Amino acid sequence: MTEERVFTGGCLCGELRYEARDPIDAGYCHCRLCQRSSGAPVLAWATFPTATFSQTKGEPATYSSSDAGRRDFCAGCGTQIAFRDTGTPERIDVNLGSLDDPAAIEPMYHIWLGSRIPWLEIADHLPRYTDEGPDAGAS
Ligand SMILES: [Zn+2]
Ligand SMILES: [Zn+2]
Repeated sequence: MTEERVFTGGCLCGELRYEARDPIDAGYCHCRLCQRSSGAPVLAWATFPTATFSQTKGEPATYSSSDAGRRDFCAGCGTQIAFRDTGTPERIDVNLGSLDDPAAIEPMYHIWLGSRIPWLEIADHLPRYTDEGPDAGAS
């Protein structure tokens, strides 16, 4: 039996802590909503079954970032930790940068490249999609 890996993470100030298991996939999102909500040129995330995700410290604040989704963040420091698609409540997208070990899960593809910021040069060889790509199966 292989030991099940537990992924832990949290916000910058430490008020929010979480853990999750069994990542489903991971990718980079170049959409404007992710750019604006994170303040970064691209958002890297990992999808977990919501059933394996638990908040081990604190309660995140949350808001609707579109008709289709909500984003969880720390009210104290502002770190965005997760995206929840309201159409697929059984999955949660965790911001990879909030993991204690962000190198533990590697993004597998890029989505919404139509809004990629031109000065961001992508040098990897991962699949690239102008729409939601493989993430479509999640919604
Ligand atoms: Zn915080
Ligand atoms: Zn996005």
